[in-house]
Amino acid sequence: MTILDGNHISALIKAELKAEVEKRLSFGKKRPHLAAVLVGNDGASETYVGHKVKSCEQAGFSSTLIRLSTETTEFQLIEEVKKLNNNPDIDGIIVQLPLPKHISEDIIIETILPEKDVDGFHPINAGRLLIGQDGFVPATPAGIIELIERYNIETSGKHCVVIGRSNIVGKPISVLMSRKGYPGDATVTLCHSRSTNLSSITQQADILIVALGIPNFVTIEMVKQDAVVIDVGITRTATTTTKSGYKLTGDVNYAEVSKKCSFITPVPGGVGPMTIAMLMKNTLKACNTKD
Ligand code: NAD
Repeated sequence: MTILDGNHISALIKAELKAEVEKRLSFGKKRPHLAAVLVGNDGASETYVGHKVKSCEQAGFSSTLIRLSTETTEFQLIEEVKKLNNNPDIDGIIVQLPLPKHISEDIIIETILPEKDVDGFHPINAGRLLIGQDGFVPATPAGIIELIERYNIETSGKHCVVIGRSNIVGKPISVLMSRKGYPGDATVTLCHSRSTNLSSITQQADILIVALGIPNFVTIEMVKQDAVVIDVGITRTATTTTKSGYKLTGDVNYAEVSKKCSFITPVPGGVGPMTIAMLMKNTLKACNTKD
């Protein structure tokens, strides 16, 4: 069994991005600049945005963090996003989700210019992905694809089962795994909360991608011998063993399943760090496009 080491691969990618930024600067070009907007003070969101900003700085990107209170209105947030749209130094914009209930995520996402939408959530980028055009691919599925590629995992003709149909993970990874070329050319089955006989489907998976948000949901009986298992789930679960009082738990029962599969991502240290690296890659791409 091989661990798909997201910490290691994401560090390699960040080093590659840093070298590309240095090359840009040596040619007198601008630094890539990511702007992140955080509304409210949700603990998990604070942590995610903090990691994104820190990673940008480490790779020589500029970053701007805009913090807004929970009381911010939808109109005010739209105005903030428009300011970033109109700022020529900003290459990429992310608005950390979830937003407070009184703000429509759809409206905010559609306000971001597609060419600055480095999260790849804008309908234009989602549409481009669906029809195989170049655009921004959401960072988490892009990170999964990058892991598969860097570990030379065969995908052609394989049966890939995805659990979860969210717009940010399940749907886009299903499209990516079924597209023509490598990594892709897989036969994809997309499962969700209304799927029946889930175990009988997952047992057929050569590649199992799990993104539902229920800790330890996938057990050893659900996995085929020597399957590739990619665990996207991150849930904070209570523990007495850490200072914070919680730990991050994946959707796969790692202790059991790791004994049966050929490749597996750990949680933490699998897909999570890849997500940040791919967000930065998208930001550099946005910056390069403007040259
Ligand atoms: P979501 O929370 O929007 O939706 C969950 C999905 O799981 C739904 O499509 C639902 O149909 C499916 N589901 C729920 N119960 C099910 C069941 N019993 N059987 C089969 N399917 C079921 O999904 P999301 O936003 O993709 O998040 C999923 C998990 O991935 C969460 O733990 C989230 O924190 C994590 N996540 C991690 C990263 C990362 O960077 N590693 C990024 C995004 C999301």
